[in-house]
Amino acid sequence: MTLNFLTDIDETLLTFKPGVSSPRSTSSVMNAIRSYAVEVKKRTPESVEAEIDIVKKTVPWWSWTTFLERLGMDPARFWEYAFEYESAYLQPAEPDLPSTFADLKRRGASFFITSNNPPDGIRHKLRLAGFPNPERIFTAFLGATQMQAMKAEPLFWRKVIPETGVPPETLCTLGDDFHDDCEVPFSEGIRRAFLLNRDSRNTGRQLDGMTLIPSISSLKELFA
Ligand SMILES: [Mg+2]
Repeated sequence: MTLNFLTDIDETLLTFKPGVSSPRSTSSVMNAIRSYAVEVKKRTPESVEAEIDIVKKTVPWWSWTTFLERLGMDPARFWEYAFEYESAYLQPAEPDLPSTFADLKRRGASFFITSNNPPDGIRHKLRLAGFPNPERIFTAFLGATQMQAMKAEPLFWRKVIPETGVPPETLCTLGDDFHDDCEVPFSEGIRRAFLLNRDSRNTGRQLDGMTLIPSISSLKELFA
């Protein structure tokens, strides 16, 4: 198998724990920042919101570090805090994800991350998904901040394809969102997609070149 997977994070590698009624969002780190600034840095919630607003209004492609700097927060300490904070409601989407990926790599697959998370958020989310050393699995992180476009925009994929440095016909996507992970990349020339259907949210979706899969580990049978 010579396939280069463009791999999504949220709801693909990482999911909310059952029973957690949080909105599905890439941005839950913002709540960890708010909480750390108030609890540890003893800021008032109002002053924290004001600083967050300034960053959002003045920095178009921020990363979480932009907020940490603005709020005078120690990055190493904050990311430990954020790991604990988000572990309360986020969990790996499947058991043994690192061994599934290592297995697929042994069969010739390569993996890139394609995510709307900023680069520091990608590293954080991968750790939550069970990848403390993501470089062992993922060739490169291609995030929205770096591409200066979101996955829902054709521009993101137009930039990602040459950035991978591999033949475009070997690229496929692996994600949970029919629009962002299938329709938009296909509009830019990607021909193959594996769309997760863990909770039947994508039942009935159809597109030439797209395969619905119940789990990432099912790829092992597909490429046995
Ligand atoms: Mg997703």
